[in-house]
Formats: sequence, structure tokens, C-alpha cells
Amino acid sequence: MNTHTRIIQYPANIEALKPYVPGVPISDLARRLQIPVESIVKLASNENPLGPSPRALQALAEARIDLSQYPDNDCTALVAAIAEQHQVPKEWVVVGAGSESVIGNAVATLLTAGKKTVYSQYSFQAYVTAVQRVGATAIEIPSPEYVVDLDGLLGALVQEPSLIYIANPGNPTGTCLDSKALERFMNAVPPHIAVLLDEAYFEFLPAHLQPDSIAWVRQYPNLLITRTFSKAFGLAGLRVGYGIAQPVLADMLKRVRPPFTVGEPAQLAATAALLDHDFLAQTLENNEQSGRILQEGLRNLGLRYLESYTNFVLVEVGDGAAIARFLEHQGFIVRPVNAYGLPRWVRISLGHPAQMQRLVQAMASFSFAENK
Ligand SMILES: *Cc1c(COP(=O)(O)O)cnc(C)c1O
Repeated sequence: MNTHTRIIQYPANIEALKPYVPGVPISDLARRLQIPVESIVKLASNENPLGPSPRALQALAEARIDLSQYPDNDCTALVAAIAEQHQVPKEWVVVGAGSESVIGNAVATLLTAGKKTVYSQYSFQAYVTAVQRVGATAIEIPSPEYVVDLDGLLGALVQEPSLIYIANPGNPTGTCLDSKALERFMNAVPPHIAVLLDEAYFEFLPAHLQPDSIAWVRQYPNLLITRTFSKAFGLAGLRVGYGIAQPVLADMLKRVRPPFTVGEPAQLAATAALLDHDFLAQTLENNEQSGRILQEGLRNLGLRYLESYTNFVLVEVGDGAAIARFLEHQGFIVRPVNAYGLPRWVRISLGHPAQMQRLVQAMASFSFAENK
């Protein structure tokens, strides 16, 4: 029998899911173009161009992890380090296999078929997929300026959603919200409606734009914030992130979380990375320089881009897929964002300053006029 024959009846919301399309892996492109992996620069998944935190690597090298044993399900040391860092009780911290998994658990905790969630257009794909997976109803608020429309989200509260999702800064837009406006928003949301504030790029915000979101968690029992070790701390490959919420909400998330989701190496490395202040400083310095070079280069090319508060820039190029293909042949992997409804744009992660210079040169030889 044909192995593609449908015999099982799948739920409609599952059939409607689209597989997540990640940035093209370097090894894939190397094989496809028959070029060495060393000649390829991946700027497609917002990974840290400096690599992982050296303190995390050192902790892994010195540790004697017995891989025959299940990891610590409570992530005791990591939870203690996170609680200490943010000055919150340990019960408020929920660790997951990437913040994506904490986000998925939040969705599973708060939404079921028939319940509603409100989020902005151009929101993180993994959130949208998690909502679809549980069969909840999505209310998407337009974002014509590529910034989350907080008043628009508030306007949807009459529909009694169970969960509101906001990424600040956002991905793929890279735009951020005014802290005061976000605080007014939190004040306006009734306490029985949960808010998930995804802060995957929090560390990249300049200090004066970083909201005191931990203080908001203390104030609002309906607020969950999520952070990740994948971006600024350079540990995307280990899959570790966390959420912070008051104990009732945090406890629900822990019940929903499958057992043993965070391996011992990930727990150990993340605990060390959290204290690697030098690496974080270097990461931010590199990001600042690369961001300046790329954005200046894009201006010189006459391209529109969104002022970035993250480690990537969203650029309007005409035909996003075409320039991504073109750049692959120059050894650069960037991210088309048609899945977000942005076929005219590409998202470019910030690498090293020299890589940004070479990228701008490569882009200059693309015929934008022919790909309008
Ligand atoms: C990268 C990212 C995450 C988290 O990724 P994990 O690797 O799962 O921690 C979460 N939200 C947004 C908006 C992101 O871009």
C-alpha cells in the first residue's frame, strides 16, 4: 500500500499545522553548493556569533556528568541561580528546554479548544503554532507599523481571551515597546487574563529601554515572563530557557511540563553562563558594532529596515526569497520571512563586524530593481 494513504483521521487543527522551517543549516548549504562549511556564514537564526559563553564551556569540561542518570528534574542549581539573579523566590522560576518549551507549556496551561488568545501580527511563529496545536482560537491584531499595537490588544479584551502574548522586543520585527506604555497596558489588563511577555532579546535592549519586568511579575499575578539562554548567552544548541511568574501560575506550568525536559549538561552550562558577565558584555559590544555597520550599509543601499533593538535586522528587499537565494551563493544564509506574511523582507542576524561589511558588499551586487 502507498505509505502516503490517509487512514487515521487527524484533528483539523493538527492537519492545519505547518512544519516549522528553521534557518538553513550550514551543513545543508555546504552539501548543496559543494563548498566548504568554513566559507559559509549563517545569519538566519539569531545565534550568538561569538559562540557559547566560555564559562559555560569550562563548566562542561570540568564537570563529571553521569549520562546514564536522569537529569535533576527540578533543575535545582539553575533555578537557584536564576532566582538569585532576579531576586525572586525559587518557586517563581520554571525552567524549560528552550523558552519555546516554556511558551508551549504556558499555552497548554491556559488554552484549550474554544479558549481565545490575543497577539500581534508578525508574532513569533512558535507561539502561533503552539496555539494551533491545542486548537485555541487566535485573535491577531494588525500591526501596520511593525510595532505591537497595545491599544489594539486591549480592544480585543471584550472578547474575553484567556492569554495575551507579547514579545518585547519582537521577532521577526526587532522593534520594541515603550516601557511606560507596556506598564499602562499591564495595569489595564484584568487579573483573570494571563499575559505572556516573551523577553528572548531582553539583554540586547539598551539599559534605558529595559523595562523592570521582574517588578511587574511581583505586582501582577497574571504575568509570565520568559527569557532564554539561546541568544545573548550563546547556548542555542543546548535548549534551555526559563519563565518567571508568581507561584500559582508557576506551579501550573510545572505540572504541565513533561518530566526531565532539561538535560544535565544544559542545566550546568546555563548556570555558569548566567554569571558570565564578561561574555555578555562582549556579546553586546559586538552586536552594537555589527548593528551599526549593517544598518549604515543598508541605508547606503537605499533599503528600508526597521530600527533594531535585537541581534537581527528586518530589511525590505523586494523579493525576500530571491535575495536569500542570491546570498547563499555568496556564502551567506539569511532568513526569508514569508511564513510571517512578509515576503518582501528578509531577517538578517548580526554576525561579526567584518562579516557585516562583506554581507553589505555582497548585497550591493544584487539587482534590487529586477526583484521589486
Ligand atoms: C529565539 C526566540 C525564543 C526562544 O528560543 P529558545 O531557543 O526556545 O529559547 C523565544 N521567543 C522569541 C521571540 C525568539 O525569537
